[in-house]
Amino acid sequence: MELEQARDWLRTAVAEARAGRAEGGIPIGAALYGPDGELLGRGRNRRVQDGDPATHAETAAFRDAGRRRSYRGTTMVTTLSPCWYCSGLVRQFGISRVVVGEAGTFSGGHAWLAAHGVEVVLLDDPACGALMREFVAANPGLWNEDIGL
Ligand SMILES: [Zn+2]
Repeated sequence: MELEQARDWLRTAVAEARAGRAEGGIPIGAALYGPDGELLGRGRNRRVQDGDPATHAETAAFRDAGRRRSYRGTTMVTTLSPCWYCSGLVRQFGISRVVVGEAGTFSGGHAWLAAHGVEVVLLDDPACGALMREFVAANPGLWNEDIGL
């Protein structure tokens, strides 16, 4: 896909991440886009807000999109490299493409997804990196809880 398109879609995920930070949550956001570029769903990590460790940004965006017969041609856009749980979701439902804002703070399953035929676009976006570095430095215990350390 064109990088310009990927960066444009990433803005939706970054807005979700920033909203999460403003709520005192973990600043990871995601959005699911359809084959024709329509926004299907968006969401953010809600571990803190809902006391729910299972609501990651990607699962929130996925649930927000509601039911679909097929995920062929859809794109999961996320501010941070997807963890194994969310990488599993991408493969389970056959999501075709993943746009990753950054993988420097945390490197999850994006290489595994690429090895299994998912198109992965890694953007190394400075805003995503800054959001996470700032968060991890201020909340190391919360971050370790989120990534299971
Ligand atoms: Zn996840």
